[in-house]
Amino acid sequence: MSAGVVIIGAGQGGYQVAASLREAGYGERITIVGDEPEHPYQRPPLSKAYLLGDTTAERLLLRPQNYYEKHTIDFVANTRVTQIDRAASRVALSSGTALDYDHLVIATGARNRLLPVEGATLDGVMYLRTLADADAIKQHFAGATNIVVAGAGFIGLELAAVASKLGKQVSVIEPLPRVMSRAVSQTASQFFADAHAQFGVKLLVNTRLERINGSGRVTSVTLSGGADVPADLVLVGIGILPADDLAQAAGLPVANGVVVDAQLVTADPKISAIGDCAAFPDPTTGAMMRLESVQNAVDQGRCVAKRIAGHPAPYEAVPWFWSDQQDLKLQMVGLTAGCDRTVLRGNPAERAFSVFCFRGDTLLGIESVNRGAEHMFGRRLLAAGESVTPEEAADLSFDLKARLARVAPAREAAAG
Ligand SMILES: Cc1cc2nc3c(=O)[nH]c(=O)nc-3n(C[C@H](O)[C@H](O)[C@H](O)COP(=O)(O)OP(=O)(O)OC[C@H]3O[C@@H](n4cnc5c(N)ncnc54)[C@H](O)[C@@H]3O)c2cc1C
Repeated sequence: MSAGVVIIGAGQGGYQVAASLREAGYGERITIVGDEPEHPYQRPPLSKAYLLGDTTAERLLLRPQNYYEKHTIDFVANTRVTQIDRAASRVALSSGTALDYDHLVIATGARNRLLPVEGATLDGVMYLRTLADADAIKQHFAGATNIVVAGAGFIGLELAAVASKLGKQVSVIEPLPRVMSRAVSQTASQFFADAHAQFGVKLLVNTRLERINGSGRVTSVTLSGGADVPADLVLVGIGILPADDLAQAAGLPVANGVVVDAQLVTADPKISAIGDCAAFPDPTTGAMMRLESVQNAVDQGRCVAKRIAGHPAPYEAVPWFWSDQQDLKLQMVGLTAGCDRTVLRGNPAERAFSVFCFRGDTLLGIESVNRGAEHMFGRRLLAAGESVTPEEAADLSFDLKARLARVAPAREAAAG
């Protein structure tokens, strides 16, 4: 029997490679090695329904345990890959054993960026990445009254939304002038800042968290400007770093992630990298980028599995993402970094609208709040390589569905 495929990391991407390989009829051995105790599970609910107590750990599992036996996928839990020996095509495991591979997939995800301030190691300063982290935060929630959230990105705001819903006094500290500033437009940022104020969250932008105070346990934080805010829990959501150290130690190029080509292959043709840990070329511009989303991990997992199973194709999926903050579902499609013009469709006061983001007349992406149909429209439109004009986007009488109906038959005709 051949050594088959070894997947490092039992997360969203690692699971997807294994599942898609079997779906594609791959008949050799598949082994997933993961350093967490659980079978692969969904992380997004950890900062949403799971923290609120609205779902269980079992319901987070991507597949029930017997799925892996049924599909002859070997799953090695609680075990780290400690080294990649490229010359021998073998990985060393923390258990002291080793595994040979024909093909290796690095799907190691990311680790939290740590808060570089005095007091950051006090009890009550917590981060969220894993189910174990979520369980620990849940336990601390019970006795906490004052919660400080460091960082107004997606995770920080989701944590603030949950904590405020649970009746806690919540302060969010953000050094930049607006919330989710790296990911969403000014319009969406302002809307969410206002929404959090309505949730009862105290949002402090243009403010740095300078120090965490307490003896043994956190009691307060000191802000730039000198003010103290009481805190019995500090939740840190200031971004993540790609888990690319194994690849780097193995001599693979690393630059804000494991560097891969358009087919997600590293400099070593036997090794691929996917998901949060992979830096890949933007299919449109060629610039290297790294995405941190379920869509990206899933679609890259599928892409690598297809190649290994004999159907190579470049990775060209349209990126999309979502974030739930109390009753607000934010959904984004496309990459809007180069946007120079936004068009509002709908009314933020009704808590349901979309922001269409353009560069010139070209649609780059859409941010939707409680407008799932427009998000789905954007996904289909951008996947078809099509656009709408800013005027069409602004015109509520313009029928988006009709535009899609026009695009789809044209594509089919072009295809053959
Ligand atoms: C709290 C939270 C909320 C989120 N919400 C959303 C959301 O709403 N929408 C969205 O699109 N995305 C969301 N994300 C991001 C999304 O979950 C990730 O982008 C996705 O899980 C990435 O998949 P991955 O396979 O690359 O990494 P992961 O799912 O992180 O899996 C990597 C796994 O590899 C393991 N590992 C690392 N090194 C080793 C090693 N050497 N040996 C063995 N195992 C190793 C890790 O412990 C981990 O289990 C959220 C993430 C978090 C943490």
